[in-house]
Amino acid sequence: MKVISNYINGELKQANNGEILDVYDPSRGIVYATAPNSDHTDVEEAIIASANAYDLWSGYSITKRSRILLKIADLIEEKKEMLAKAESLDNGKPEWLATMVDIPRASDNFRFFANAITQYASETYDMSDVGALNYTLRQPLGVVATISPWNLPLYLFTWKIAPALAAGNTVIAKPSEVTPMTAFLLSEICIEAGLPAGVLNIVHGFGEKVGAVMTGHKKVKAISFTGSTRVGSEIAKVAAQNFKKVSLEMGGKNPNIIFADCDYDKMLKTTINSSFSNQGQICLCGSRILVERSIYDKFRNDFVAKVKEIKVGEPTDSSVKLGAVVSKGHMEKILSFIEIAKEEGGTILTGGERVMLEGEYKDGYYVRPTIIEGLDQQCRVNQEEIFGPVVSIMPFDTDEEALELANSTVYGLSATVWTENLSRAHKMARELDAGIVWVNTWLLRDLRTPFGGVKQSGVGREGGYHALNFFTEPKNICIKYNS
Ligand code: NAD
Repeated sequence: MKVISNYINGELKQANNGEILDVYDPSRGIVYATAPNSDHTDVEEAIIASANAYDLWSGYSITKRSRILLKIADLIEEKKEMLAKAESLDNGKPEWLATMVDIPRASDNFRFFANAITQYASETYDMSDVGALNYTLRQPLGVVATISPWNLPLYLFTWKIAPALAAGNTVIAKPSEVTPMTAFLLSEICIEAGLPAGVLNIVHGFGEKVGAVMTGHKKVKAISFTGSTRVGSEIAKVAAQNFKKVSLEMGGKNPNIIFADCDYDKMLKTTINSSFSNQGQICLCGSRILVERSIYDKFRNDFVAKVKEIKVGEPTDSSVKLGAVVSKGHMEKILSFIEIAKEEGGTILTGGERVMLEGEYKDGYYVRPTIIEGLDQQCRVNQEEIFGPVVSIMPFDTDEEALELANSTVYGLSATVWTENLSRAHKMARELDAGIVWVNTWLLRDLRTPFGGVKQSGVGREGGYHALNFFTEPKNICIKYNS
């Protein structure tokens, strides 16, 4: 049994109350590790450590901070294989995916923000007509909290921590209790990299016992959260009481709009990825596939045929495309949505069931990639986030109808448009309710760009200088040099 520890004030330690929580290997459906089941006392200790480390860390030169963060990036890269295995075991995702995507991106997050901070500058506003000059300082906030989900554990954990630290804040971070392993391994890396004690504190445990205490704590100046819309809304309420800054990256129900004039082969290949990558557990996956009626039948037949070929299996097998979903509870939620789809009049074109493997993987949580058609846009399956390998396909006749269908949920995270018509692409991109629109591609990410959603998908933006702006407070100084 592996034992995960909290990382508080530079030390690896168990929860003060001695309680632990079980950590599952979803590929086998067994407990393989324990993590601290922390409470408010651990959070308090971590916040004190963060507050005590703040003067030291924020007082470091940018170069010195940047060097330590670059060292962390290097160590993540060096330990890529070990981290990818750990991520795959903890989350159920294929090991090759963790090796190619999750872990390199975690390293890139540190490298990117370690470099970005050296280029980050603030503005001046000249008032020469009256003999005055304004300049704006961007100062770190103090102790900030980051809270992240289970779907891209180290990738999203570091996406928040790196800019917060680069900007000079000290951090108390909570990974998901469902996938705590790589956050723990990151604590060991931070110690090895020479990050001073208390600059980053990682507290494991449940949302209500740890996350909620972090968000309500008076010393925490800002909260960067990624997770469900339900929890995001809870956090916004708590944060509002103390007027804390919040950045909320939440759920989605992303449309994938396919016009008859698209590059068909490229679209089909990418649509398989945008539907089912990471078992459909990426907030940016397209779960509502809207297809122009003239190619609907062809698309449906080709898509179903290709998806039937997808291999679902144990995550260490390099030939599998889909591994296990993250937990038993999540698998049951996905399967229950498939039942709801049937009740709502949908037809399951392929999938729709749990996959039972053999041998040591017989109790793992595997779901066959599922395509549903015939559902009304307003039904639950087309409105609520399922966050699994389940998509619904629907035909449309006009651009206006496609837009109306695309925009008809409470969410607005991302959208994908497939067309070779430039004017149509620009028009759709402008009109879609989404923080991110991809045209003729999916998940192509430049870390400098603003990342986030509209409507109930998000508040604020991460990425590039947007993240550095979030983790700093502007202070304007006006100097009158001439009377
Ligand atoms: P979740 O909201 O259940 O949990 C996210 C984190 O919040 C966890 O660490 C959890 O312990 C913590 N938490 C729970 N209750 C809390 C509370 N009351 N106060 C403070 N913290 C609390 O989400 P999840 O199931 O881990 O992740 C899946 C969700 O994340 C999906 O909705 C998905 O769309 C979303 N997501 C969004 C993005 C994005 O960038 N928009 C990216 C990835 C995942």
